Amino acid sequence: MATRKLTPEELQDVARFAKQWGKIIVKQAFGEKGPGLDVDFAQMEEVAYAAAQGLTAGAIEAATAQQGQQLGERQPCPTCGKLCTVASAERPFHVKGAKVQLREPKCYCPTCRRDFFPSASAAETGHARLQPDGVGPDCVHGGGGEVTSPCGQDSSSD
Ligand SMILES: [Zn+2]
Repeated sequence: MATRKLTPEELQDVARFAKQWGKIIVKQAFGEKGPGLDVDFAQMEEVAYAAAQGLTAGAIEAATAQQGQQLGERQPCPTCGKLCTVASAERPFHVKGAKVQLREPKCYCPTCRRDFFPSASAAETGHARLQPDGVGPDCVHGGGGEVTSPCGQDSSSD
């Protein structure tokens, strides 16, 4: 299990590795012989962009799902410290260039009667987030570790 930030060189290696998949994407999109002469650059770019979005979503979803499994079955409530069962909840999440469906760990504290999110993700700084009062569990949007926003903000940006 990696616990550190990748170096710029390691990130370049990742990019080189992913670049090789470009050939596979072209084959998938245009067939064994590639694009015909009628396919213009804009169409190629469209395919490349769709592939990049899919790759980003796949990588983020896999990484966060694996990270979530490391939390174990119970996590302490950030308010009262009671150990609560870790379940999971899906939420849409926007990252650079893609929209992903995060499956993130979520707990409900019966003592405090609140949901909290024991995220270990670096993007959320390792602190459990509390669901604010009066906001239902389906109203979680955004990210970056902030407490939840009101419902409905996520519907317009596509
Ligand atoms: Zn509690």
